[in-house]
Amino acid sequence: VLQPSHLEIVPLGGLGEFGMNLMVYRYGVECLVVDAGMMFPGAEHLGVDVVIPNLSFLDTCGRLRGVVLTHGHEDHIGALPYLLARHEVPVFGTAYTLGLVRARLQEHDEGLASLLHPLPVGGEPLQLGPFAVRALPVTHSIPHSVLLVLHTPVGTVVHTGDYKLDPTSADGWATDLAQLAALGREGVLAVLGDSTNADRPGWTPGEVTVRPAFDALLASAPRRVLVTLFSSNVQRMQLLCDLARRHRRRVAFVGSSMVGHAAVAEELGLLDLPVGLRVDAETAMSLPPEQALFLVTGSQGEPTSALARIAVGKHREVEIGEGDRVIHAARAIPGSQKAIGRMVNHLLRRGAEVVDETQTGVHVSGHAAADELRLVLHLLRPRFLVPVHGEFRQLSAHARLAGEIAAGGPQVVLADTGDLLALSPSECRVVDRVPVGQVFIDATLEEVDFQLLRERKQIAGDGLVVPVVAVSPLGVDPPGRIEIVSRGFLLEDGNGLFHDAKQVLADSIASATPEERGDEGLLKARLQTDLKRFLRRRTQRRPLIIPVILEL
Ligand SMILES: [Zn+2]
Ligand SMILES: [Zn+2]
Repeated sequence: VLQPSHLEIVPLGGLGEFGMNLMVYRYGVECLVVDAGMMFPGAEHLGVDVVIPNLSFLDTCGRLRGVVLTHGHEDHIGALPYLLARHEVPVFGTAYTLGLVRARLQEHDEGLASLLHPLPVGGEPLQLGPFAVRALPVTHSIPHSVLLVLHTPVGTVVHTGDYKLDPTSADGWATDLAQLAALGREGVLAVLGDSTNADRPGWTPGEVTVRPAFDALLASAPRRVLVTLFSSNVQRMQLLCDLARRHRRRVAFVGSSMVGHAAVAEELGLLDLPVGLRVDAETAMSLPPEQALFLVTGSQGEPTSALARIAVGKHREVEIGEGDRVIHAARAIPGSQKAIGRMVNHLLRRGAEVVDETQTGVHVSGHAAADELRLVLHLLRPRFLVPVHGEFRQLSAHARLAGEIAAGGPQVVLADTGDLLALSPSECRVVDRVPVGQVFIDATLEEVDFQLLRERKQIAGDGLVVPVVAVSPLGVDPPGRIEIVSRGFLLEDGNGLFHDAKQVLADSIASATPEERGDEGLLKARLQTDLKRFLRRRTQRRPLIIPVILEL
């Protein structure tokens, strides 16, 4: 049998954008998927809850051997239910990752949980078709993150997943530099490396560095303290619980994702809470204020999150008041600054004090900075580097720093989502494109049609105009039989705009051919075009126009 000479690497998301990480590795017809992530929608995605990658490539790419997950962040697992709905393939992940996936699948189709399998870490490789997959532990801001070593017929590929090198990581699960060096000596053909913080110089500070800041903030707080953080940061959750005990405060977890992550973490022994430390939110509110600590969701200002509700006095259990301290212990994901700002304004208005990472050092990133990335490349000594996980500026910063490695630095291949890369022992380059894009999902977990979204945007931007036209088969009705209804367009009929618009419509009908007049679809299209042109000329606006035709 003739063996293919290339391994194909196809990112369906995550390159040139933040989120939707999904990589396909293909050898001949044998395919392996690494991660299946989502992206949070922007303000322009009206009524959209989740954005996932277009998965159509997977329908025709060949034989799917399985999905291997590097860790449980939403940008790596959020699209998995949608992938599994189309392809029932085995999914491999570490215990914490699968715990989160299981919870997620319950919202969709519980039967799919039978597809989940534990990913062995550090031991024997997992054989999936021509791919022997070894998972190695790495430090990140969520428990049980792994780097994947893919032994393939063309050579060894290291898929780093999200990682940093923090040697202070307290949960005994850390990036092992000796293992990376050993891999480098065995020979690595290509690295697909996390670029998130490639444009930050130096070294990402260790998780241990946030302890003194929290310690001081808890010691000096006269009343209640609320901390909002990423729910998946179990190490920080544990640290806050330890500090709460030290400062004689009870802890309440508030918000469904905070409670959910804590439950999975506790079940796996990753979160150790002394008896009596945890109380429910109602009990915590009834304690003397200086004895309560709340860990709440809402670090991105999401309008339905616990902290956002608390900030406007709309939370069922927790109230904020004069002298309470709110600590924002997370980075703002690009796009959520405004929502966070609004929330902070409300909190301040209620008399709370708000401190964030810029003032206090209560947050460190989960991703390696430039010096760490250089060190990892130096240890792995790959022939090729494909920067992944970032917008183009992070990918190119990763490329630049790889170029600074003095001897034996990798050859860098800058690729984009949808590129098909061919990797052989001597070459790595983009050879084709595959269909990619964003798929919008709303609260019903169903897909939102692109056309629908465009209409919502148009209505939100320039409003809606509905001309109602009564026509008889015999001929033109006078303009008096034409009405125009509008919403969100113009409040008043300035300069006789609608009067003139009616005339435009009447002229349009008058000059229509009998064929057009007899066909509702054709007539609507004609009226739409003529009215659109007229309104654009007169108002510079493009409202959504929906003609209604009444046959007499
Ligand atoms: Zn991550
Ligand atoms: Zn990520």
